[in-house]
Amino acid sequence: TDSARLARAESLIALTPDFPQPGILFRDIGPMLTDADALAAVTQALAAPFEGGFDLVAGVEARGFLLAGTVAATTRTGLLPIRKAGKTPRPSASVDYALEYGIATIEAAGDLTGRRVLLVDDVLATGGTLRAAVSLVEQLGGTVAGVAVVLELTELGGRAAVPSTHAVFAT
Ligand code: AMP
Repeated sequence: TDSARLARAESLIALTPDFPQPGILFRDIGPMLTDADALAAVTQALAAPFEGGFDLVAGVEARGFLLAGTVAATTRTGLLPIRKAGKTPRPSASVDYALEYGIATIEAAGDLTGRRVLLVDDVLATGGTLRAAVSLVEQLGGTVAGVAVVLELTELGGRAAVPSTHAVFAT
């Protein structure tokens, strides 16, 4: 069943304490990505609530790229890579956002007028990254059709930053 496939996929998210810094419990989707059935089940579950409602999938560098790619290919929609600062020759929009220490910038190029965009990422933590991505898509003229993540870290309250986020799994 789908729920058994998803339960198995969830079990393939690896936990590493104190990475990348002390006190962080890192959720690594790596083993889930290398498993064919888990990847297929999670890809489908990310897109399912939004099927037919989007024509472009966007993901933030680097793990968001991977999931945006699988969702775009399986739903036959377009793919928009949202990059970290300095990688896009002529960005059309740029958004700064707060990290735990310092700030980060994301950029993308192109005109998204009339495009309905599904934003995807691996983990919803504080929500800062996805909130910035929503703002970036809107600056490019697009409409955010939905936000989907593999795993929501509920205790961090990131949902407040991106309220209607669909989480396949939650802590
Ligand atoms: P956020 O705080 O929601 O902006 O998260 C920033 C980025 O870091 C997200 O794209 C997540 O992929 C990643 N991230 C944050 N916390 C974790 C964690 N505990 N395990 C794995 N990835 C994380």
